[in-house]
Amino acid sequence: MSFISKLKEKFFKKVGDKIEDAAIKPEEAAAPAAAEAAPAPEADAGAAPAIVDSPVPQLVSDKALFPPELKAILPGPPPGGKIKFAHYWGAGCGGCDVSLLDIREKILTVNDMAEIVFWPIAMDGKVKDLEALDDGEITVTLFNGAVRNSENEHMLKLLRQKSTLLVSYGACAMWGGMPGLANLHNTEEIKKYVYTETPTMKAFQDTQPSPVIPQEKYQAPEGELHIPVLYDTVVAADDVVDVDYYVPGCPPQQTSIEVLLGALVGHVYNGADLPPKGTIIGASEKTLCEECPRKKENRRITKVVEPHEIDVDPDLCLMDQGILCMGPATRAGCGSPCTMGGQPCRGCYGPTGAVSEQGASMLTAVASLFPVLDNDALIDEDVIIDIMSQVKDPLGYFYQFTLAKSLIKRAVKEKGGK
Ligand code: SF4
Ligand code: SF4
Repeated sequence: MSFISKLKEKFFKKVGDKIEDAAIKPEEAAAPAAAEAAPAPEADAGAAPAIVDSPVPQLVSDKALFPPELKAILPGPPPGGKIKFAHYWGAGCGGCDVSLLDIREKILTVNDMAEIVFWPIAMDGKVKDLEALDDGEITVTLFNGAVRNSENEHMLKLLRQKSTLLVSYGACAMWGGMPGLANLHNTEEIKKYVYTETPTMKAFQDTQPSPVIPQEKYQAPEGELHIPVLYDTVVAADDVVDVDYYVPGCPPQQTSIEVLLGALVGHVYNGADLPPKGTIIGASEKTLCEECPRKKENRRITKVVEPHEIDVDPDLCLMDQGILCMGPATRAGCGSPCTMGGQPCRGCYGPTGAVSEQGASMLTAVASLFPVLDNDALIDEDVIIDIMSQVKDPLGYFYQFTLAKSLIKRAVKEKGGK
């Protein structure tokens, strides 16, 4: 068996199995473009939102990247009166909403600076109140979470319409994040697993005469009820609407949020220019490795380990210790709290501007640490296969946050495939 065949069988099989198992066909995967004219709330089951041309987030200059951080609490409203602020979640976990509180007492500045008009996790708010606002009346909206159902799409479009500035906030909004890993399956597979095969649901379903699966429409005595339509393909916010700024992270770290807040404060209190449109705020051009304080020795990897399996050296690079760390393939800006705490970077600040594929970039980084000797540039194929086959769930690890925005984007079924 050839080297490539062996590698495919042992390493890429883990990836390939997932891709081959998915039942979506290429023509179905292309649904987003075809669905362009469909209004969100009435979208067909399994359809996906219309995809707009998404600009590649750009970093214009360090100055634009790092507007002055907010050093102190600013008392009182800005000279022109309070701005309007909204924060909304699409397909996310709520962590991004809560992350805003990480700025601690500086949240008081947000309160002084802005009237919060819509933030469902923090205050009561009705969609009809949002709809009643003029277009562009909200000064800034932070949208977190991916777009994976008709409600996410509808709310994102509504907030875009009502906001002057829309910020794609967090890994899910920027690249689909972890919800984007659902692109390895289609909605029918997901519903079947979640509602009939998970242990708790299976126990419930076993008590029912026939499987109980949520329906998108239900005729109740009071009238027809609807729930959002789940899409086959998870997409990022800027695949659906035009986005002004990006703040990466899962969730964004305090340092990045303060830079965002500093830019807003500078603008509304002092009339300072905002960063150029498309700027990734509170992040860096560098990789996390350049920011991480751990000592790098570029030791060769012969064994892949998890942090709990070894006594982690507190000062040495985690990759040098055999722990796969996404730092070489990830944009800096978070302040490296994970690696300083002994945990590998998971890649939530996404790829740097120099690469488009974070997963492929990480594969290259791992390959550069294969045990090649100075006096022998050749490495035994079986050694490579052995190392790579120790990587558990390579697709989920290397593309944990960016699958939906990667070249892979989603699993498709090849013509004639199973
Ligand atoms: S980016 Fe992370 S913290 Fe934010 S919604 Fe997604 S999963 Fe949650
Ligand atoms: S690989 Fe991880 S632990 Fe090592 S220097 Fe880079 S970010 Fe730090």
